[in-house]
Amino acid sequence: MSEKDFLTKEPRVLISAEKIQQRIDEIANQINKEYEGKEVMAICILKGASLFFADVIRRIKVPLRCEFMAMSSYGNEKKSSGEVKLVLDAKYPLEGQNVIVFEDIVDSGLTLTYILNLLKARNPASIRLCSLLFKPECLKKPLEVDYIGFEIGNEFVLGYGLDYEGYLRGLPYVGVLD
Ligand code: 5GP
Repeated sequence: MSEKDFLTKEPRVLISAEKIQQRIDEIANQINKEYEGKEVMAICILKGASLFFADVIRRIKVPLRCEFMAMSSYGNEKKSSGEVKLVLDAKYPLEGQNVIVFEDIVDSGLTLTYILNLLKARNPASIRLCSLLFKPECLKKPLEVDYIGFEIGNEFVLGYGLDYEGYLRGLPYVGVLD
């Protein structure tokens, strides 16, 4: 048996590509309404949020600029070490900007809490959080996520930007390996 057996199995679909795209329409419409007359500084948290980010920003009608940040990931483990490190920072100054941070999934919430505190210190005019997925059962400290795609249970998911041991990010749906 190969160590990469998971590559030969079709994951079980948890959230279909159609449902994801419908929900992204709703989120983008909400952002378009709430930011009417303003400019947005959209920050993508790499690598997991890349597909979600690309799909949302294509539907945003207000003037928008993009920045990218990367945090240390789980590596090959399925549980957060609780230690978050900044690997790539946004370049553009955020002072006075209406920032929206795009994340793939909120599990313990430690990553997004860390990013929020880091960015708040740069004095943006406003800052909101948008996550494709949210695991409410796993949250360690209260964290307000302004735009949530889907709430899911405590299970390890992959696809649509989320990886399994570095693979499977390109799947158009969110799935589970049983
Ligand atoms: P947190 O700091 O909220 O515990 O974890 C956030 C990060 O852990 C996410 O950005 C993601 O990279 C990773 N993560 C958490 N849960 C999952 C999951 O179910 N699947 C995958 N692929 N990554 C996850």
